[in-house]
Amino acid sequence: MDKFFLLETIMNYIFPPTCGFCEEITGSDSFICEDCKRIKKQEYINHCCMCGKVCYSEICPECRKKKIYYDKFFFCYEYNEDIKEKIHRYKFLGEKYYYHFFTEMLYERLKNETADGIVAVPISHERMQERGYNQCELIAKKLSRMLKIPYLKGALVKVVHNERQSLQTFKLRKESVKNVFQVADIYDISGKKILLIDDILASGSTVNECSRILKQAKVKEVKVGVIAVSHILNRL
Ligand SMILES: [Zn+2]
Ligand SMILES: [Zn+2]
Repeated sequence: MDKFFLLETIMNYIFPPTCGFCEEITGSDSFICEDCKRIKKQEYINHCCMCGKVCYSEICPECRKKKIYYDKFFFCYEYNEDIKEKIHRYKFLGEKYYYHFFTEMLYERLKNETADGIVAVPISHERMQERGYNQCELIAKKLSRMLKIPYLKGALVKVVHNERQSLQTFKLRKESVKNVFQVADIYDISGKKILLIDDILASGSTVNECSRILKQAKVKEVKVGVIAVSHILNRL
């Protein structure tokens, strides 16, 4: 058992896991209680297989129009009020422990997938200083232990600090992610399958740009896993 896992086990003993949805003690190692697992079920049919948008064909018209660099896409939930509040608490109110809850969701979606490495969408140095943690990295690290797939720390880096994407329009988002990410030369990822983790997919520009540069670094396959999909901005 690695050190981090051991620490988590001890912490779970001192502070028994509570459900990320209803906040009740789950009575197990799980961070989602049995009731919420049942009640909060997300349906995956009638959603675009590349962006999660509600759509009655396999790929939505918008995805058909653009060049998508990732090969497979998985999301856990639509960005409903419930999820929105939890993500907000996790990202902006410093409630770091929510990573257990989000990782468990992703694990359920990805447990049958294979990959050679897991990569998290990076945040800038400025955002890291402000927040104190990269919300995607915490999830990716725990997921790596659960899936037994190595976490490639620092494989992707963000070299430019751009404005918070949630404050931008869809068109601006596309522009603002161009050339802000780089593949760091620390792992040999050529010919490998990579699982890329992000929190929310809105326009899809961030994961698509990360996938583009991973492919440029000769990655064979990119699978994207996100907590939630929000497509409100696509209509702007
Ligand atoms: Zn619950
Ligand atoms: Zn789509």
